[in-house]
Amino acid sequence: MNVEEQVSTYYNMLLKRNAGEPEFHQAVAEVLDSLKIVLKKDPHYADYGLIQRLCEPERQLIFRVPWVDDQGVVQVNRGFRVQFNSALGPYKGGLRFHPSVNLGIIKFLGFEQIFKNSLTGLPIGGGKGGSDFDPKGKSDAEIMRFCQSFMTELQRHIGEYRDVPAGDIGVGGREIGYLFGQYRRLANQHESGVLTGKGLTWGGSLVRTEATGYGLVYLTKEMLKSHGETFEGAKVIVSGSGNVAIYAMEKVQELGATVIAFSDSSGWVETPNGVDVEKLKEIKEVRRERVTSYVSEVEGATFHAEGSIWSLPCDVALPCATQNELDGEAARLLADNGCRFVAEGANMPSTPEAIEVFRERKIHFAPGKAANAGGVATSALEMQQNASRDSWSFEYTDDRLHKIMANIFKTIEATAAEYGHDGDYVIGANIAGFKKVADAMLAQGVI
Ligand code: NDP
Repeated sequence: MNVEEQVSTYYNMLLKRNAGEPEFHQAVAEVLDSLKIVLKKDPHYADYGLIQRLCEPERQLIFRVPWVDDQGVVQVNRGFRVQFNSALGPYKGGLRFHPSVNLGIIKFLGFEQIFKNSLTGLPIGGGKGGSDFDPKGKSDAEIMRFCQSFMTELQRHIGEYRDVPAGDIGVGGREIGYLFGQYRRLANQHESGVLTGKGLTWGGSLVRTEATGYGLVYLTKEMLKSHGETFEGAKVIVSGSGNVAIYAMEKVQELGATVIAFSDSSGWVETPNGVDVEKLKEIKEVRRERVTSYVSEVEGATFHAEGSIWSLPCDVALPCATQNELDGEAARLLADNGCRFVAEGANMPSTPEAIEVFRERKIHFAPGKAANAGGVATSALEMQQNASRDSWSFEYTDDRLHKIMANIFKTIEATAAEYGHDGDYVIGANIAGFKKVADAMLAQGVI
């Protein structure tokens, strides 16, 4: 069998064994496509069932999460933790609380996390978890009871040397606090290394809150530089208005760009004069309100419930909301309107068709597993600080993050060129992330 046949036989088997999980199929298909290039050059990477083992999680946990709402009614949610690959270190990856969460979504996120974590150069394996719990509209007390019930099961499976969760969509500082409190109580272990994204007075790291958004901008800056551009004077669209989006907006504006639009799931806001990020933080992080509040409080901003955020002319687009939010049509709109750079703050926000359009229309594109790795990288820095019971300054930690992101860009650019696909950062990220994990798996035997 040649490489093409080998990979497609394997992929068809994966589709059958993981039926009804389209996001997982999509994430695997993209990586396998790049791996064909590696396997043609280095066929030993197909030895010892390596590809099959890589696509099969080491452990998948699904559990019941019962809790009592403010009306005294029992609610039952489903919890997940997929411990995908530990060849490079303890499983590391966030927890997502969103009604759309199911096993396939957690598996796609866990799979991506393996390569992302490998690209950071830090010793962390890949995992992901979450629940179909919807935090929207819940009281603080309900969030706390849910988090406590979720952790009551999860605590059996995690630990600073085993699996270290963090936040993701719907899980921020408040949720990490409740989860950590319950973990300490049940495990009777008061070291802080079991979760990252903690508060600064109880083991958290400076820069972790900003890390994914800032890291995204640091990597994009390197991509721009490699093509003779800077952020100075650029028009930037940032979708979403959560943790990743807010800090991406803050950093691009600091670098002299103007954020001309952002969004949430209710619609998008056009901001031709830039975004008042402090106001947006207050609305989203403190008051926990919708983007419509921003429009009523800041002059010159317009709300659109219809149409596409990607329809505005811009230089750089940073999708920072959720998976598959930017499709082929949106990619064509961006290209038609002069956009030249796209970098993913969210995980897999661009559909395969959109990525094809970026290739055809010569838009420089940095995939999430490289571009949004700053969050997990800084989580790993939080783990280092916890292990040495130390805490580093903002400047030092930010500088480490900056260097990590610049190094990731250098690696994916060089790998794409080495494999004959100069400028294709998808191929560069997939291959560079894969090779490190694959070498470790081959060295460690069939386990
Ligand atoms: P948050 O929960 O803080 O924010 C998510 C944002 O995206 C909200 O503004 C939300 O709006 C919006 N959103 C969600 N779904 C849609 C949709 N269908 N259309 C438009 N907007 C939508 O999550 P994060 O910022 O943490 O995560 C965003 C993305 O970044 C995710 O893909 C996540 O996996 C990825 N990521 C996050 C990391 C982190 O450190 N937090 C690290 C690496 C990747 P609304 O409030 O209306 O739901």
